[in-house]
Amino acid sequence: MDFELAAEQLRHREAILDGVRSRLPGRSRGAADEHFTRAEWSTAAELGLTGLCLPKTHGGGSLGALDTALSLEAFGDACTDTGLVFGVAAHLLACAVPVRDFAGAEVRDELLRGFSDGTLISANAMTEPDAGSDVGRLSVTAERDGDTYVLTGTKSFASNAPLADVLVTYAVTDPKAGFLGVSAFAVPRRLPGIDVGPPMAKMGLWGCPAGEVRFDGCRVPARYRLGEDGQGSGIFQHSMSWERACLFGLYLGLMDRQLRQCAQHARERQQFGRAIGDFQSVSHRVAAMRQRLEAARLLLYRACWLMDQNRDSKVATALSKVAVSEAAVANGLDAVQIFGGSGYLTPAGIEAQLRDSVPATLFSGTTEIQRELIARETGL
Ligand SMILES: Cc1cc2nc3c(=O)[nH]c(=O)nc-3n(C[C@H](O)[C@H](O)[C@H](O)COP(=O)(O)OP(=O)(O)OC[C@H]3O[C@@H](n4cnc5c(N)ncnc54)[C@H](O)[C@@H]3O)c2cc1C
Repeated sequence: MDFELAAEQLRHREAILDGVRSRLPGRSRGAADEHFTRAEWSTAAELGLTGLCLPKTHGGGSLGALDTALSLEAFGDACTDTGLVFGVAAHLLACAVPVRDFAGAEVRDELLRGFSDGTLISANAMTEPDAGSDVGRLSVTAERDGDTYVLTGTKSFASNAPLADVLVTYAVTDPKAGFLGVSAFAVPRRLPGIDVGPPMAKMGLWGCPAGEVRFDGCRVPARYRLGEDGQGSGIFQHSMSWERACLFGLYLGLMDRQLRQCAQHARERQQFGRAIGDFQSVSHRVAAMRQRLEAARLLLYRACWLMDQNRDSKVATALSKVAVSEAAVANGLDAVQIFGGSGYLTPAGIEAQLRDSVPATLFSGTTEIQRELIARETGL
């Protein structure tokens, strides 16, 4: 067993840290509707971040799961705008990965280069008003009509959607077939019959706009179907396994930055004539933050490593997802406590870290759903 990163991995990590710190350090968002701009997205693309695991033949980096996660970790550390980092990661893992792995050659050629070079932004539209955790209850339908599918229905929560050029979505093509009755599509936003709602007001990740997507008899040429008819549920699970493992690298980076800020604040902030870090209740809080972060990091690296070995990574990924997201929320609360009142105020950026971490226990499959899976795989 070797816990060292290779020289090339360290070099790539430093290049991202330097590039993001100098060109995309993040700006503080004053309001929930101040999302990322096309210019910021293009800068992320120039740094190679929108195409990390897309093929080199299509402008990407051809990275595996572990190297993709390491890159997102560096991005999440260097960029304080976690909404932007999340938007890029969701685009890459929940949208570009299924196109990479399941689109026909023509659609791969049409979309993947744009996904890599930043000219195309994508959104994953799976969740519906009555189908959140229970993705087996989709009501959006896709009826075959000659060379097209006619999509009808509403998706309720799609990150990036208000700015997206492509919507990766899932619809029922055979209502009687259950899991095998869902098909996947990469739908160009320009097609008639698509209405994307305005950015929704939300607690955190302000840099990433999320919106509702309504399909009203939208005719989608059959070439935009991903995989075969009825493979949609499996394709969604595949994309989620990449997202559940790699996306959470960004939270490791956020926690690294947060831990450095907390240690510095505990060294510098004086109360009762001493640095607050001299009080054991403060120093042990910092130690507990580090313990959660490092334990979560090992689980995430192992999950990604298993994926890269083509080994079964389902439980490892669920364990990693729960550990990273819960560590991010717990460390976010601890950071506010260590900073005191200044942590609750906006300028220090500490309260934003907490708000940006809370949804991590919800998206990509909630903590409860991951624990269900872990329990089942443990023999219950
Ligand atoms: C920031 C953010 C970004 C998102 N981005 C996207 C996106 O890009 N695309 C997209 O399609 N969706 C997105 N979502 C939606 C997300 O996938 C759903 O919120 C998530 O799947 C949970 O569904 P729900 O909100 O309907 O909650 P529900 O499924 O209604 O769950 C509510 C509560 O009940 C619990 N629960 C439900 N079923 C069970 C069960 N069987 N056992 C135990 N507990 C259970 C849940 O764990 C949760 O605590 C995003 C959500 C957030 C917060």
